[in-house]
Amino acid sequence: MARWPLPRCAPRVAAGLAVLLVGAMFHLPATLPKASAAAVEPGVMEVRLGPSETRPLLAIIIDDLGWGVLGTAEVLALPYPLTMAVLPDGPFTQREARQAWERGHEVFLHLPMEPKGAFPPVPRFVTVDLSDEAIRARVRYHLLQVPYATGVNNHMGSRATADRRVARAVLEVVAEHGLVFVDSRTWHLSVMGELATELGIPLAVNQLFLDNIREAEAIRRQLWRGAALAQARGRALVLGHVHPLMASVLAEEIPRLQEAGIAVVPASRVVNWDVARPQRRLR
Ligand SMILES: [Zn+2]
Repeated sequence: MARWPLPRCAPRVAAGLAVLLVGAMFHLPATLPKASAAAVEPGVMEVRLGPSETRPLLAIIIDDLGWGVLGTAEVLALPYPLTMAVLPDGPFTQREARQAWERGHEVFLHLPMEPKGAFPPVPRFVTVDLSDEAIRARVRYHLLQVPYATGVNNHMGSRATADRRVARAVLEVVAEHGLVFVDSRTWHLSVMGELATELGIPLAVNQLFLDNIREAEAIRRQLWRGAALAQARGRALVLGHVHPLMASVLAEEIPRLQEAGIAVVPASRVVNWDVARPQRRLR
């Protein structure tokens, strides 16, 4: 009799199905491996943090979604509350923002801001030659493209984030929508953080990039550096890019971070809420 070769993962799949079936019969909570958490409720995954929470908090932002790049599906499938920063104007901007939210991740608008060097015409960047009103209109337009966005962080921006007038116009829209802002810190002279504080916008600043070197070992090392920062300061925020390698390193390392007592949380949980005050009336 011919026998079908079973895939290697068959026992695990069978075990998972059994747990699901038994769980369904007896309303037991399914204790499936993390990879099955695709069925989480839409919205940001709940992270139980009490007022007496003492665990170090680590937020991880994944940049550059919205363009269907390799690794998007793997990153979105990670069953941990990450923050997905979605670029506007992409062929999959709305879809990937929605998928991120459906999978329980936090969604940010990843706002393209003019860098010092060359940049492509699309997505439409906030450039320093635009008037204040044109900048505000562009940010509002980009926000409309990214459903569920609860915050904004900059994509590139080595020129525009250092320009006070441009930074203010951008942040006025962030404040107007009641969003949080994360300075990706692509340029050491960025004034975004300073102005966000002035405007009373909840703020966090990127502490380090995970994948300046796109090798698994380098990403892993950076992630644990971020964890050490979180342990030293109570909270930290790190930033990486959508990529298959990023997905596989995070899948391996986040459980280890959690075992080490670190809470991985959405970016909005590490913003400096204490700088927020009733927003000034903005024009
Ligand atoms: Zn980016």
